[in-house]
Parts: sequence; C-alpha cells; structure tokens
Amino acid sequence: MSNALETILEIDLGALTHNFNYLKSKVQPQTKFLAVVKAFAYGSDSAEIAKHLEKLDVDYFAVAYVKEGVALRDAGVTTPILVLHPQSVNFKTLIDRCLEPNLYSAHVLDEFIKIAEGLSQKGYPIHIKFNTGLNRLGFKESDIESITSKVKNTTAVQVKSIFSHLVASEDSNEKDFSKLQIERFNAIAKTFEEKIGYQPWMHLCNTSGILNYPEAHFSMVRSGIGLYGFGNSTKEDKNLKPVASLKSVISQIHEIEKGETVGYNRAYVSEGSERSATIPIGHADGINRIYGHGKGYVIINGERAPIIGNVCMDMIMVNVSNIACKEGDEVVVFDATYPASDLAESAQTISYEILTAISQRVKRIVKPE
Ligand SMILES: *Cc1c(COP(=O)(O)O)cnc(C)c1O
Repeated sequence: MSNALETILEIDLGALTHNFNYLKSKVQPQTKFLAVVKAFAYGSDSAEIAKHLEKLDVDYFAVAYVKEGVALRDAGVTTPILVLHPQSVNFKTLIDRCLEPNLYSAHVLDEFIKIAEGLSQKGYPIHIKFNTGLNRLGFKESDIESITSKVKNTTAVQVKSIFSHLVASEDSNEKDFSKLQIERFNAIAKTFEEKIGYQPWMHLCNTSGILNYPEAHFSMVRSGIGLYGFGNSTKEDKNLKPVASLKSVISQIHEIEKGETVGYNRAYVSEGSERSATIPIGHADGINRIYGHGKGYVIINGERAPIIGNVCMDMIMVNVSNIACKEGDEVVVFDATYPASDLAESAQTISYEILTAISQRVKRIVKPE
C-alpha cells in the first residue's frame, strides 16, 4: 500500500484468512469455529471482519454486548451471534435481532425466560455459562438442578450450548489448573445432559486453549486474538499474521537546542542539539499516556523513534535525532514487521489492550485479499 498521509488502521483480510485457516487446521473438521468479534473485532472493524469470516464459513460469532451484535445485524451479518455479557435491559432487543444470550446466573435466566415467554418464543437458543475457576461470570456446578428444572418448565427456550472459560490457557505454569478446569467442565456437562435430557454443544477453549489443549476442543472453539494475528507466545506468533497495521505521518520536525523542553509540563529536556517529530496520533486515538517518557516508540524509515515527554490528546512527539527523515514521511506504530505485541511488551501491557484501544477516530482502511 502507498504511504499513509494521515493516521490510518489498515486491515489486511488476507492475513485474516491465513489466521483462520491456521487455527482451523488445529481443530477437527467437525469441531465448530466461533470467531470472537467483540470490541470492534479487537479494535479493527467488526463488520468488515465478520463479513469476511462469513465468506470463509465461520460457524458462530461472539460479541460482549447486545449493541455490538445489533451493529453486526445492521451490517447484514446473518450467522448466529452469541452475546457473552448481555444485560437484561437489552433482552427484548436481543430477541428482536436474533442474538443469542449467555445466561450466567439465576437472575438473568429468570429474566430471560420471562421476556422470551412474553414474546411467545418457542425454543429460543440460549447458552449457559459455568464458572470453573475464573470467578467472573457463570453458574456453579451445584446450580445445575435448578437451571435444568427452570428450562424444562418452559417451551420458550432451549439450551443450545453450555460453556466455560479458561483462566490461564496461555500459561504453561498453570497447566494443572487448566486441566482441572477441563475436568470440572466435563463433570458439569455429564450431569447437565442427564438432567436436561438432551445434548447441548460444549465449548471451553479460547485461542491459547485451541493451541495448548487439543483434548478440550469439544463441539466448538472460540477464537479472538489468534484471528487478529497473535498467539500469546513467540512460537505461535510466527504461525500467525497481524491483521491490523497502525500508520501515521510526520506533521512537523523541530530542531531543539540543549536544555529546551518538549511537550506539556516540560516533561522532556533535550540533552543536546536534537530533532523531534510531531505525529498526529494521541491518547484520544489509543496511544495511552503510559507510552510517554520513552516507554513507547514508533518506527520511521525502519528505525525506532522513542516517544518523548507526555502523550498529548491528539499528538505525540518522538525523538528523531538519529533518524534520516522529513515532514510527510510515513510513521509505523505497529504492523506485521513491528508487531503490536513488541510495543505492548515495552509498555508492560498485552497485545489485546493495544489493539482494542485504537479509537473510532482513526480511519479504517480495508486491504482486500
Ligand atoms: C474474549 C473471549 C474469548 C476470546 O479469547 P482470545 O484469547 O482472544 O482467543 C473467548 N471466550 C470468551 C468467554 C471471551 O470473553
């Protein structure tokens, strides 16, 4: 692609196809594949990503909130969509737009059944989440009897799947705990099936679960970060391709004398004759203030230029004293060569956070296959 002339997030659909095919190759052909497209498809563009994955025959989508599912339906996405964290205030909209709820507590299950009955639904697909160790959302094993009796008492809903979520699937030091979660989930499924009298789908694995626990793929797997090109390990990162590239441009260059300062609160003090470049991207675009004071960097003509001083709302200044560059030159924040995971590491965060922080102000450009 040509040089960026403003701040853009480029979305590479070819890389998405590659990642999808790679992850699919890790699961059995009959195992269903759910693509997690919450948070604007990890900061990229959920409609573009979902429509491309539909062409690749993905089986399911997941979003966190009802609003995100509605946006996909508005964009013409017809594949089933699981809403991982719906609020009961949105249950009517959820049903209107054919979204499928995760029901994780007695309270939300009761609320949903009431609303589904009120709307004369028959066998509306619901997904029941069990807490096997994360202590975030989910029923306990001891709730099974009460869940199944409530569901058997109504014709409005049917349990499409039961699922849980691994606490540390990427961490080899936590293998024993992951295995314990798999065991707990198997036990829950056995009792659940006995009590409900049919066999809902089962799913447990996120991206690192897919890669590290092939014995736990069950009926379906749920991948997010892997589809966007990150495998939570150096080894797996090599097999995947980053989908999003964040690029910008040099707006202005300043020659700075020793003792002059750069940016708000005079946070950077020049140590000699230096050059700074101003880039049109700031904390309102997702470059968190944590990246200031040299923690973060951008790439200009193949060289690392550290962010100096404080990150402003709309701009950063970087040190280009040792880089041959001029106004109008392209700036790379991350791309396939300089991955977001490296930048994340230098600021002590994770690729998930860098990607999802890119705000809606940044223009998205889709690079077709
Ligand atoms: C976000 C999420 C995922 C996706 O996890 P990745 O590590 O990005 O693959 C899967 N399942 C649940 C319940 C999630 O919240």
